[in-house]
Amino acid sequence: MKERRPDELETLWKEKDVVNGKLSDAMVAIMRTNGCVWAKNCGGCTMCGYRTASLHDVTEDDLMKQVDQMLSRYKGESFVKLYTSGSFLDENEIPMTVRERIFDEFSSCDRILFESRPEFIEKDVLSTLPKSTTIALGLESSDPEVMEVSIRKGFTPNDAKRAGELAKDAGLMVRSYLLLKPLYMQERVAIDSAIDSARFADPFSDEISINPVNVQKGTVVERIWKRGDYRPPWIWSLIEVFKELSGTINSRLMSSPSGGGSQRGVHNCGECDQRALEAIERFSFTQDVNDLNVTCECRDSWQKYMLSESMLGTAADLDRGFSSDLMIRK
Ligand code: SF4
Ligand SMILES: [Zn+2]
Repeated sequence: MKERRPDELETLWKEKDVVNGKLSDAMVAIMRTNGCVWAKNCGGCTMCGYRTASLHDVTEDDLMKQVDQMLSRYKGESFVKLYTSGSFLDENEIPMTVRERIFDEFSSCDRILFESRPEFIEKDVLSTLPKSTTIALGLESSDPEVMEVSIRKGFTPNDAKRAGELAKDAGLMVRSYLLLKPLYMQERVAIDSAIDSARFADPFSDEISINPVNVQKGTVVERIWKRGDYRPPWIWSLIEVFKELSGTINSRLMSSPSGGGSQRGVHNCGECDQRALEAIERFSFTQDVNDLNVTCECRDSWQKYMLSESMLGTAADLDRGFSSDLMIRK
């Protein structure tokens, strides 16, 4: 395997996203940093495999070289998204000098987005950020027990709310990430919980991104999935969340599921997955609920699945018992 050097970006790609209501070009860079403080000190969240994307000896000089690589690939996209697999505002990950250079280099962008845990979001910090900033908040759930037990997030929904409100007061945009179907949750409960969480996030968010769980390597979620006690959500559930929320909240709804259509990611029967994911991609841009009209026979299976879960009182992977080819998890 190729050595992962601290002075190289983890990855960089181009995609589309929305800027001022219009579909625009975006550049996404994943930086290699010293890693998320929560993952380093306390083991991290149950679904997070990002610690594999961070190192322990990334210097300021290394980060400056990563910025050089971004600039060499930058073609004037109006939206720049910077992920660190942690918190951009944690100075142990991104020192102030690097932060300032990034803001300076991308000062002509209409939007710049980065993630941060709430503990790094304070009034004095926010006042130093460009007005084009969107703070991405990993709120995950509005249920404190889910945050503590299923996700082990290390902060409460109200901590995220406080950070979101501060960011809004500072005139910045907020994109809240919610997790669809954390551990130990039945499918229907997961749908209702994501809907409740979106309503909680709406007053302090401009955008709400629903992230269906993707089973990442080396995580608690992977261990439980391998032993058959977890099934990633159905794509129907994600569609249902959007249908029920559409027109009832102010934030733009969106989702770009990682691992979609695979056994580790949000999936349906296999036959309709691509169509259903394309529908979600369309809806994320148009917000038109008609774009979610997908049909497949497996919609019945999804409904029966939810009924069976509720009758059996389990959140285990019921598919496992019905399909022998799912017995081997890779
Ligand atoms: S999900 Fe975010 S906060 Fe949780 S361990 Fe991963 S990087 Fe850290
Ligand atoms: Zn199907």
